[in-house]
Amino acid sequence: MTSQRAHQRTNVVWLGSPSFPEAAKPLLRDEQLRSNLRRATGTIRERRLAVTGELDDWEELRTAGEAVKRRTLRHLDHYLEQLEASVVRAGGQVHWAADAEEANRIVTRLVRETGEREVVKVKSMATQEIGLNEALAEAGIDAYETDLAELIVQLADDRPSHILVPAIHRNRAEIREIFTAAMGRYGRPAPEDLTDDPAALAEAARLHLREKFLRAKVAVSGANFASADTGTVAVVESEGNGRMCLTLPETLITVMGIEKVVPAFSDLEIFLQLLPRSSTGERMNPYTSLWTGTTEGDGPSTFHLVLLDNGRTATLADATGRQALACIRCSACLNVCPVYERTGGHAYGSVYPGPIGAVLTPQLVGVENAASLPFASTLCGACYDACPVKIDIPEVLTHLRAQAVESRRARRKVPSAEALVMKAAAAVFATPGRLAAAQKAAGLGGRFLGDTVSRLPGPLSGWSDARDAPVPPRESFRAWWERTEGGTDEEER
Ligand code: SF4
Repeated sequence: MTSQRAHQRTNVVWLGSPSFPEAAKPLLRDEQLRSNLRRATGTIRERRLAVTGELDDWEELRTAGEAVKRRTLRHLDHYLEQLEASVVRAGGQVHWAADAEEANRIVTRLVRETGEREVVKVKSMATQEIGLNEALAEAGIDAYETDLAELIVQLADDRPSHILVPAIHRNRAEIREIFTAAMGRYGRPAPEDLTDDPAALAEAARLHLREKFLRAKVAVSGANFASADTGTVAVVESEGNGRMCLTLPETLITVMGIEKVVPAFSDLEIFLQLLPRSSTGERMNPYTSLWTGTTEGDGPSTFHLVLLDNGRTATLADATGRQALACIRCSACLNVCPVYERTGGHAYGSVYPGPIGAVLTPQLVGVENAASLPFASTLCGACYDACPVKIDIPEVLTHLRAQAVESRRARRKVPSAEALVMKAAAAVFATPGRLAAAQKAAGLGGRFLGDTVSRLPGPLSGWSDARDAPVPPRESFRAWWERTEGGTDEEER
């Protein structure tokens, strides 16, 4: 497991990324970034609240979604085997990939077998997670992103910073600059008089992408859902570019995390209501593509489904942490998170940012390899309230924090200053006499301070650097109780 996870680290987590607090510092000072994020997340938040509020049975839908996901995860092996049989029966081929390396090897081989040197891509978190574009490039195959936001990220040689809107950190003027500077390197250049009007930007992208759609023989996609009983795979998107990839090329290769399976086609009824309302604040998805194996004369003639584990089985083994596998990638938790709104997605150093990234990434790569992420939260619980499948993200965060501390402790040869302080505190709290003496001493010391302590000494400064520490009370509750006989003393009243 260790070597498998060490490899995965090179993919789910961006190599060389600093820890969250370090990465967040410069981003917090970037006013343009914060203004872009505030505007974008604020708009999506309002839209989501409006459309979820208009359904009387929204809470029942959430409960139903949660129940289906829980049942699926409990019997994941069964549903995956059923899915494999259904896809094969419908004319598709199924491949199993234990980790990112194996998945990349399979996809590269499948593309090579077609004799093609380029693929068009539908927006997909799974292929980002395994670093597929980079692996294909090493094999001499060009991968072109066709989702508008992914295209912006690819042209800018940037990293995505949001699950749903990967270029959320860019504004219109920046996008115009990116299109003007980079489109020509990948194909049709942007018009010379391109403005930052959204319609003009969309038209430039449409013309740029059209020649790729018409030329491509191979497409690579992810999957939002796949139903075990029929083998039907579903992709939802807003622009229709995904549908071009899913219908025009001769070969379609879908890379899907194993947790995306649902038991029955009829379960889609729940998720196709939950997802658009939670993610884009729309009542239904503009484009929902469903396909079942292959059909002669309709769509790709060859279909491959690559089922990706890459740390998911290990996550499944943790009864608390496995909730994260129920995620339908709506990104509602990102849009309500006060930490995400101030830092953006890059601070998380992972393909999966925000609250869901803070619980999923450490589990996929091993907590010791992403130990700062479970702490990248205020535990305010807004993510739990927003999640359409009721993932208790704060519960998983605290669970992983404990694991992160344990793993750090296990690796240290000498105890940390914090551990020594905690040990001393444990000794003080162990007997009433010691506690009383310590409270008395603290109360005496507190007389010489003001109302708050702005900086505590030594290792305690880490705590007081982020907040004002209250001075110890002059008298402990016990001492007050004894002195006043529980408040009945005449003088006290
Ligand atoms: S954890 Fe919940 S709210 Fe966050 S992306 Fe996943 S499904 Fe959406």
